[in-house]
Amino acid sequence: MRAVGIVAAAGSGLRLGADLPKALVPLAGRPLVCWAVDTLRAGGVDEVVVAVPAAEHAEFAAVLPGGVRLVDGGATRTASVRAALGAVSVSAGAVLVHDAARPLTPPAVVARVLDALAAGALAVVPVLPVVDTTVVVGDDGTIAAVPDRAALRRVQTPQGFSRVVLEEAYDDLPIGEELTDDAAVVRALGVPVGTVDGDERAAKITVAQDLALAELIARTTGERASQGDAGSRQGVSIAASASERGAERPRRRPAVQTEERNEPGVEP
Ligand code: C5P
Repeated sequence: MRAVGIVAAAGSGLRLGADLPKALVPLAGRPLVCWAVDTLRAGGVDEVVVAVPAAEHAEFAAVLPGGVRLVDGGATRTASVRAALGAVSVSAGAVLVHDAARPLTPPAVVARVLDALAAGALAVVPVLPVVDTTVVVGDDGTIAAVPDRAALRRVQTPQGFSRVVLEEAYDDLPIGEELTDDAAVVRALGVPVGTVDGDERAAKITVAQDLALAELIARTTGERASQGDAGSRQGVSIAASASERGAERPRRRPAVQTEERNEPGVEP
């Protein structure tokens, strides 16, 4: 089954404190959006469409690898995915929607989603258990309910769908109505959404601390070096070489500064 990956990359870098779109913020020397594209390709998608901020179209075109299609995104994630979906070829049987903000997602997660679709699922999302007690807080600030943690899951991306189902779900969703992810759009149509195992490394980068952690993972473990054919790509070799230099303790600081402070006299 031919699979197309959509990367939602049209968000701002506001919460990250970046002065450029979040998807262009570098991780281990290359933009988050490039990591996301690599993940999808290494995991088995055949083609990638990226939704980018219209105002920065040229900047994204300059950094994205060849063969990737760019479309102008919208004011919300829902609008951006809708725009990208419009550029997906009708020859595709499956569509995977992925956040640019999840750069270290292992390709194995992509492969699990694709496998579930190949096995007949119409919609599938990667999930992780909830480890903290999770509560519902009422308007008065007190705990109103404590859902059974055993049944709760955190939902990640890439989320995979039959193309026909996802298109029908977006066609059905009134313009302007915003849902937090694509599984919600499909569930609104009444389609059951399956689950596969997610991965902690697919965590979303939202604030500067998330980026600092991702830098650490990319630089210290060379996360992507041994994963699929992504090992031969530019960003991977940067991450891998950083890891190979592990013994030298790379000194380069994250591109977006965190609140981390260095002790006087202590080298970063
Ligand atoms: O803001 P947040 O991190 O939740 O966004 C999730 C993903 O959706 C990000 O990769 C972001 O670039 C994307 N997005 C988008 N268009 C928007 C807003 C967010 O593609 N208008």
